[in-house]
Parts: sequence; C-alpha cells; structure tokens
Amino acid sequence: MGEVRLEQVRKVYDDGHVAVASADFQVADSELLVLVGPSGCGKSTLLRMIAGLESITSGTLSIDGQVVNARSPKDRDIAMVFQSYALYPHMTVAQNLAFGLKLRKLPAADIVRRVNEAADKLGLRDMLDKHPRMLSGGQRQRVALGRAMVRNPRVFLLDEPLSNLDAKLRLSTRTEIAKLQRELRTTMIYVTHDQVEAMTLGHRIVVLDRGVIQQIDTPMRLYEQPVNLFVAGFFGSPAMNFLRGTLIDDGGIRLVSQDCRLELGDFLRASPQLANRVGTKIIIGLRPEDIRVATGPSSAAEPQLVAKLEYVEPVGNEAFLNLTFGTHELVSRVSPTGLPAAGSHVRLCFSTSKLHYFDPDSGQRLSAQ
Ligand code: ADP
Repeated sequence: MGEVRLEQVRKVYDDGHVAVASADFQVADSELLVLVGPSGCGKSTLLRMIAGLESITSGTLSIDGQVVNARSPKDRDIAMVFQSYALYPHMTVAQNLAFGLKLRKLPAADIVRRVNEAADKLGLRDMLDKHPRMLSGGQRQRVALGRAMVRNPRVFLLDEPLSNLDAKLRLSTRTEIAKLQRELRTTMIYVTHDQVEAMTLGHRIVVLDRGVIQQIDTPMRLYEQPVNLFVAGFFGSPAMNFLRGTLIDDGGIRLVSQDCRLELGDFLRASPQLANRVGTKIIIGLRPEDIRVATGPSSAAEPQLVAKLEYVEPVGNEAFLNLTFGTHELVSRVSPTGLPAAGSHVRLCFSTSKLHYFDPDSGQRLSAQ
C-alpha cells in the first residue's frame, strides 16, 4: 500500500507563475523516488501538492487508486519531514514522538509501543527524556523522522531533510534513511537539489527544470543516457564536457569548430541518425572519466586529441586535469600518480562508444543507435 499517481498535475500560483507545468508519473508501492532539480524548479511545490499543503490547479493526484485532490493533509495518510525538523522545543524526544499519536487519541499502550519501536530503529532510546536543544542536528533530524515513522503512514514525504546538517552528518544520515526505507518498505518521495543525494538514494529520479519534468529514470540510466543537455550537465561532478562544432566528413568524421578538429572515428557512418547530421552543428558530450591520457597509438575506436594542461586539481584518490582544446575547456578525471606538468601539451584519448550527441537547438539527445 502506498502507490502515488500524478496525472497532468499543474500548479499556477496566484501571480500567474507556472511552478509545475504538467507532472505525470507514478510512484510504486515501497519505492524511494527522488525529485531533483536546481532551486526554484518546482520540486517543493510538487511535494507540497502531494502532501495537501498546496492546492492543485489542475490534474489528478491519487493514492492507492483514490483521488485525493480535495482531501486535507491529515486525511491522506502521509507523513512529511522538513528541513527545519519542526520539533516542539518544550517537549522531550518521547513527547515529540508521541504528540501526533495523542492527537489521534490512540490508546496509551499503543503509543508507548510505537514510540519505543521507532526509538530503537533510529538509535534514540537513550535520548527519549532529552529536549531537542540537547541534541545534535543529526539527532534532531532522526527525531523528526521518528515522528513521521510512528504514524505508520502509507507514504513518507521528505523535503531536503539533510540540508541543515554538516557534510559528514549528511552522509551518515543519508545512509540511515536509505536503510530505514529498505526496512520499513514504505513508499518515500524525497526532494533534494543535490545530485549526489539523488543518485545515491533514489530507486528512480524525477529531474525537474523550470517546472517541467525532463527525465524520469534510474540513477545509472540518467547518468549514461541523459535525454537532453540539462540532464547531462546536471549529473556528474565535474560536469560532462561539451564540445560544439560542425560535423564534417572528409575521409574521416570530425567535429570542427573555430580552432579545433576532433577526430571521431568511422563508427558514426554506421549510425543513420548521426550520418544525417554531417554538415550540421552538433554538441558532443564526454564525461571527465571517459577522457584519459593516451598511452598507445590512436585508433578508429579510440581517437586522440592534444590539449594544453592549464592546471591540475588533486583531490586525493584522483585528480582533475583542467585543459584547453582550442576554445573548449575540458576536464579529465585521472589517477593522481604520474601527472603531466601544468603548461604541457597532453595527448588524450577517448572511446567513441562513450560519446554523447545533442542537438544544439533543441538540446535533445541524438541517439547513436
Ligand atoms: P524548489 O523547491 O525547486 O526550490 P519551489 O517549488 O519552492 O522550488 O518554487 C517553484 C517556483 O515557484 C519558484 O520560482 C518560486 O519562486 C515560485 N513560488 C513558490 N511559492 C510561491 C508562491 N506562494 N507564490 C508565487 N510563486 C511561488
């Protein structure tokens, strides 16, 4: 139980701003679905519409097959966790956990049982008598999660729950949330602007930009098959490299721009969609980890390019080479040993199977198949 379905859900605020254009997707029972996108893309609005805290302008929202557009938040059987924890400062952890259940007039024994179960699952047993001010940010967020858990809802909604935590706590709490969701098997819809949080937590991810859903997919498919330039640039750090130019075929296929020529090997000829593009402008995407320092000769499957190494950023287990290739800036992610010197020219290679192609006008992915 806990299947959520949105059909052409739209939100236009009173000032005429279209915050969500038309959301169409389904969240399966027990699924952890992440809504991700930059600030202002409409993800909180979407979550708040599911929670019932924001009215739906048009479209249908159903939970377990029942349309809930007009139902008040408390009648939707959902529980929401906010970034700000929203704990009652004058109540102990136990009282905070029990509060919603008392309001619902559950029998006292039931309340004690549920509070203790949640406290055990979240490692809060020793803190039940403490007040929120005595807890760390991570512990407070665990109490907020516990308060949602004790209600045994059909769906959890989480709005940037880790944003107030420092980097280390964010990581450990993220792991805890994933573990908790696996144990409870409760449907979870999780909002974040952080691509790494989205990738590590989501079974599937909904990517939003300016109120429009760009792609709904598993983390790896989003990374490997982004449907457009926005998605391609959003996931991955450092971001995907983009090279703009015109495709030409003068004995070999090349991407040519003002002052650089990129050999692309012959395989493009076998791709009708891309062969058709010869003579037109195109954008080629290449992830930093797919550009390596060449050690052997160039080949059709692994063409090479020579770029100037501007500076190196070592980050411990790896290093980022920041390069210029004509007017293009490129980043290559390499092992931190035996690095070339800044200022030198470096021969790089890439596999043609790792290239991504995009239409520069629409931004849409062009398939190489
Ligand atoms: P996100 O959560 O992705 O940062 P929001 O859903 O909060 O984005 O907001 C989406 C857009 O709607 C933003 O441009 C925001 O300024 C606008 N917005 C949010 N709330 C209101 C409101 N009550 N009235 C008008 N515009 C709003």
